[in-house]
Amino acid sequence: MAEPEVLLSGWGRTPRSRAEPVGPLSLPALRGLIASRPERGLVARGAGRSYGDAALNSGGLVLTQAVEPWLLLDPHRGRVRVSASVEFTELLARTVPHGWLPPVLPGTAHLTVGGAVAADVHGKNQHRDGTIAAWLDQIDLVDGTGTLRRLTPEETPHAFGATVGGMGLTGVIVSVTLRLLPIRSALLDVTTRRAADLDALMDTLDTARSRYAVAWIDGTAHGRSLGRGVVDLADHHAEPDPRREPDGPRYRPGLALPVPALPFCPVTPRTAAAFNGLWYHRAPRLRQSVATLGTFFHRLDALAGWNRALGPAGIWQYQFVVPDAERDLVVCALETLHRHQASPFLGTLKRFGPADGHPLSFPVAGWSLAVDLPAARAGIGELLDALDRLVAKSGGRLYLAKDARMDRARFTEMYGPLDAWHEARARLDPHGVFRSDLGRRLGLCE
Ligand SMILES: Cc1cc2nc3c(=O)[nH]c(=O)nc-3n(C[C@H](O)[C@H](O)[C@H](O)COP(=O)(O)OP(=O)(O)OC[C@H]3O[C@@H](n4cnc5c(N)ncnc54)[C@H](O)[C@@H]3O)c2cc1C
Repeated sequence: MAEPEVLLSGWGRTPRSRAEPVGPLSLPALRGLIASRPERGLVARGAGRSYGDAALNSGGLVLTQAVEPWLLLDPHRGRVRVSASVEFTELLARTVPHGWLPPVLPGTAHLTVGGAVAADVHGKNQHRDGTIAAWLDQIDLVDGTGTLRRLTPEETPHAFGATVGGMGLTGVIVSVTLRLLPIRSALLDVTTRRAADLDALMDTLDTARSRYAVAWIDGTAHGRSLGRGVVDLADHHAEPDPRREPDGPRYRPGLALPVPALPFCPVTPRTAAAFNGLWYHRAPRLRQSVATLGTFFHRLDALAGWNRALGPAGIWQYQFVVPDAERDLVVCALETLHRHQASPFLGTLKRFGPADGHPLSFPVAGWSLAVDLPAARAGIGELLDALDRLVAKSGGRLYLAKDARMDRARFTEMYGPLDAWHEARARLDPHGVFRSDLGRRLGLCE
């Protein structure tokens, strides 16, 4: 019997669409479902941490949990074979005590392995360690015929490359084999440096030699303070700290405070500027400190459900990257957001290293700005459309895991030509079983 449809959204809570949820399924049941070619298509969903419509399939099926979670660690070789449904919280809790770390940690730990691979996620070390694709030995994928395939970068480069960053449109990832990073301690040495303007912020990121580097940017500052922010540079402790970690390295996520859902959006130009200003002025000019994995990598996870506190209309995260030579576009974007009172309440700037060459992977060498914006602000859609055009013209692109609104023409300009991706997808999913709202919007599927 069909399940009743449910209303789903991504982390930004806009857009929303109705779909029939299915899962978790056994592997044979999953293969059978896919082989039956469900009429309205199917897309896998992880933890719903992508901001937009990537894990939505209006009127179709959404696989709410691909498979049962399981994890097999080889502590001698630093490899983990892990089901796509495992969340990073669990992955960290199981690997860190053995002195191994997932090599790419996005800004939340509440994402699944499947979602991470499908978006080819990056962390604060992309400039040095690349995206998660660079650390994958193998992906086990159920393709559009219901066949379980083993994809590797060496043996099946096209299918592998189309699946990392492929946003679930080449099949259902059931498990992966991931190489891990050796660590001696679960603590990090952090240097925090305040930067009074964008040049200082970019210089600090540019000259950083540490493994991890990220800047929190005040997207509301303007004039001489435009682009001011706080840079965090970090490296793992070289040795365990017997005082702070008497039992060896451990991953202990901090307590998460539940944030109440608000019936209105508290973010206005004034509150966004006040919040960012306070946070900037409270930051030290220069500080050396020691942080845990949770406090350094997943600060926002301390506020559970913070996306619901920003009102019923939801939020848009606008994340783009532009090549080095186009760094002025970051200035232009900040000025435009300020001029239109767009109220960016959270912002980060990262320096990206080289692209990994997979067709839909986001990073290219250059500068990536991400800002969270209240979707309810009048005129914000037109403003972002205009920014899309500038980003595309400068050879940059938006991140599909964050996007909810770019149009097909702009997407093609940013990522195209995508013949190799479409060819690989046609081989993996000849009947077009895998479909999503994002895929339809951008012309990646029917
Ligand atoms: C607070 C916050 C901070 C973030 N920071 C970062 C960051 O620093 N770097 C970064 O790269 N991203 C970041 N993200 C984005 C996030 O990492 C990605 O959107 C990721 O894809 C979310 O994974 P998920 O499990 O929630 O997947 P979902 O959001 O549920 O799905 C994302 C995509 O993965 C596909 N998918 C999920 N599971 C499978 C599967 N088993 N098989 C095939 N396809 C599948 C879906 O179809 C969809 O296209 C952040 C998000 C939040 C909310």
